[in-house]
Amino acid sequence: MSIRPVWGLNSPISTFASRGRGGLAAMKINRAYKTELEPNNRQRGAFMRHSGVARFVFNWALADRIERYEAGNPTNLYEQKQRFNALKDEQFPWIRQTAYCTTERAFRNLDTAYQNFFRRVKKGVEQKGFPRFKSRKQGIGSFTMRGCIHIEHNRIKLPRIGWVRLKEQGYLPDNGIKILSVNVSERAGRWFASVQAEVDIPEPEAGTGESVGVDFGIKTLAVCSDGTIFENPKALAKSERKLKRLQRELARRKRGSKNRAKTKRKIAKRHAKIANIRKHALHNVSYHVTAKTKPSTVVVEDLNVAGMLKNHCLAKAISDVSFGELRRQIEYKGQWYGVDVVTAGRFYPSSKTCSGCGSVKPLLKLSERKFVCEKCGVVIDRDLNAAKNLASLVECEPSNGRGLSGELGRTETLL
Ligand SMILES: [Zn+2]
Repeated sequence: MSIRPVWGLNSPISTFASRGRGGLAAMKINRAYKTELEPNNRQRGAFMRHSGVARFVFNWALADRIERYEAGNPTNLYEQKQRFNALKDEQFPWIRQTAYCTTERAFRNLDTAYQNFFRRVKKGVEQKGFPRFKSRKQGIGSFTMRGCIHIEHNRIKLPRIGWVRLKEQGYLPDNGIKILSVNVSERAGRWFASVQAEVDIPEPEAGTGESVGVDFGIKTLAVCSDGTIFENPKALAKSERKLKRLQRELARRKRGSKNRAKTKRKIAKRHAKIANIRKHALHNVSYHVTAKTKPSTVVVEDLNVAGMLKNHCLAKAISDVSFGELRRQIEYKGQWYGVDVVTAGRFYPSSKTCSGCGSVKPLLKLSERKFVCEKCGVVIDRDLNAAKNLASLVECEPSNGRGLSGELGRTETLL
């Protein structure tokens, strides 16, 4: 038998830090609740105005930064806000019609986009993602509010806008949470509120089950090392076919025509539907590997590897989004249910390694759906083999998969 090389696990992205303390203590988590709003016409107008202001301020701050940078006089968030406030009443008096917190958050969003850009430059990432100007053509967009926000059974109160009806009653918790902010966004003609809140939940018991590896694919959505297979939902393929038809229809429509606008709206709706179907399917996977099986650790692939090796063109773009979303879901659910979440090292050949004996194949074609080991004779489904390898990483790593760095990083939970 060959000795399995120790491939580094990355440091945990989500760790249940207070393991073994028992389930008595409470812990605070940040989570979001997203629900649809039912605004009246006046409120729709106010939503549009606030989204417009958020976009305007973001663009103003971006232009200002570029200008000052080129003049050799870089600026920062606080300086920018001061200058903007000094001139806004004179130059942009209409901003007064909207809540101040929206302006404030737009400045912050730009600042975050800048910091992310610099972080990527420092890291040497290829796609640096310099902040881009927001255009009305990309959609109405969104705005964020904080401060005086209240929730009741069937309505939510926003600063300056007042009580807005909720489409789904009783979904937003109306007590026992601290509301941090609300993001209001438009999608395909519908308005949604995403409420960020701090919630007290009882500290979960640490998971004790066998660790689980998740292999994420295109043909099948995900394969877990315990043998559970998650197929892509059939509704997804159907919806995607419909989207393609609509896109062909759009190509036939005359620019600027009413029919073109109609088709565009249909496409936006279809996109939203596809995103929902996909998200729902991913929740099934993330629920299974955390709350349902309660393992001690979940191992997922590194985001880049999963994207790079498995997919082509369009499929890649789609799966990247899904993979990021799946990982995000597993991360926060891991925290809720006391499960550690780690990623495998970037160069770990999860597909090429035999889960039976650990020998590594030099070559494995994408078309080979079965993994056949020449050393030990194991024949196993390709994806299941990869998932099993990911799961077994935890056992061959010292200190229970906490990684060689030993960092105990706790991630913020977001929904
Ligand atoms: Zn083997």
